[in-house]
Amino acid sequence: MTTASLRSVLTIDTQALGENWRRLQAQAPQVPCAAVVKADGYGLGLAPVGQALWRAGARAFYVAHFEEALSLRAVLPEAHITVLNGLVAEARAFVEADLRPVLSSLAQIESWSRLDQPAPANIQIDTGMARLGLDDSEQARLAKTPSLLQGLDIAFIMSHLASAEEPGNPSNAAQLAQMRSFASTLGLPVSFANSSGIFLGANYHFDQLRPGVALYGANPTPELANPMKSVVRLDCPILQIRELPAGRGVGYNATWSSMRPSRIATIPLGYADGFSRQHSNAASLYWGQQAVPVVGRVSMDLVTVDLTDLKPQDEPLPQVGDRLELLGPQQSVDLLAQTAHTIGYEILTSLGARYERRYL
Ligand SMILES: *Cc1c(COP(=O)(O)O)cnc(C)c1O
Repeated sequence: MTTASLRSVLTIDTQALGENWRRLQAQAPQVPCAAVVKADGYGLGLAPVGQALWRAGARAFYVAHFEEALSLRAVLPEAHITVLNGLVAEARAFVEADLRPVLSSLAQIESWSRLDQPAPANIQIDTGMARLGLDDSEQARLAKTPSLLQGLDIAFIMSHLASAEEPGNPSNAAQLAQMRSFASTLGLPVSFANSSGIFLGANYHFDQLRPGVALYGANPTPELANPMKSVVRLDCPILQIRELPAGRGVGYNATWSSMRPSRIATIPLGYADGFSRQHSNAASLYWGQQAVPVVGRVSMDLVTVDLTDLKPQDEPLPQVGDRLELLGPQQSVDLLAQTAHTIGYEILTSLGARYERRYL
């Protein structure tokens, strides 16, 4: 038995998640759409996210860590699961759990080729991120000596776009050209497009789509309206309300003080919950459609908001125990990201462990 308590409620719409996967798949109906579920399913819960995407039709999944892959394997026994960070455990351990590494150097390719039985893996080439993957000289060697892949079971040659959310950025076409020329030399299937890459056009689709963030509702086309459905809402209760006279400081170091008599509410939401201190005196929560600004510093467990300007005509004024919206129809993850000078990805993956989680 759990006791009901006054805490923030994170609602995750697994129906919308499945619909987002189908929308991305519909961008290139002939090309299988994988799902990137690293970092605990972008903060929304690896197991429920993986299961919802499997039900929607996804069959190939990407995680960053070997341990994430083991956790996913436990709930999706038949999925293809690939580990982006490379051959980060013994080759034997990958094979035993039926997991695929992304081989990111000739040395990793060599290790994988020493298996008794060939097992599937991806090979990553670096086309511009300078992060993981074979560098230019290793690519040249492999192109010249394709026999290095003899007896290997390579599912995809892959690479990752650095600026896919900027359609006008010339680096996209440059990365595409390098990917094309390398893949045509080896004649292997290609996995290239992340969420935003899918919207760069059919040239970028190749043989597998590899979206992450758009599945979770963030906008893969920041210059256009969001084609994705919203997946998360976060509603935060009011713990206490106080009437402040003019001239009182609020929060650590009194970075805000009342210029007039003010009605201040305290909410159990702090930087320990992933609500960045950057939101101090910057973000808003919502009561219905009315914005309620954060005033003072975000502290570890609490934040204060100013209710003074709320108009009672649309809905009654909020009372202790009522919930304000932090994420939902009024505020997308992309919008909230702006006041913390970050991106929707970081808002999602910072969602705290202290919220009550409800899966629809
Ligand atoms: C995270 C990641 C993705 C997914 O990117 P999104 O921008 O979230 O769609 C795809 N490929 C690689 C290599 C990644 O690291």
